[in-house]
Amino acid sequence: MNKIKETPQCCEMVYNRDIWHHHQCSKKSVVERNGKFYCKIHDPEHIKAKEKKREERYNLESCKKCGHHFSYGWYSYCPICGTKRKYPRP
Ligand SMILES: [Zn+2]
Ligand SMILES: [Zn+2]
Repeated sequence: MNKIKETPQCCEMVYNRDIWHHHQCSKKSVVERNGKFYCKIHDPEHIKAKEKKREERYNLESCKKCGHHFSYGWYSYCPICGTKRKYPRP
């Protein structure tokens, strides 16, 4: 394995406000994915893991039986079918 003398910059583009003002992420890369270097927050695996977590949370917050989503109220029971929530908010 070749030792990298200088840590490459993250290759991800960062957009400010609008699409016309973008620049390369100035952070140092921590991982290499398919020959591209990414910093910790732009690591595609990290982003994927974050999305998965969000998805899992979303699933936990919907009724197992009827699929009703609980995002707009912290019910202990499903207001549609009455199924007890598995993970009610404290
Ligand atoms: Zn970055
Ligand atoms: Zn339900």
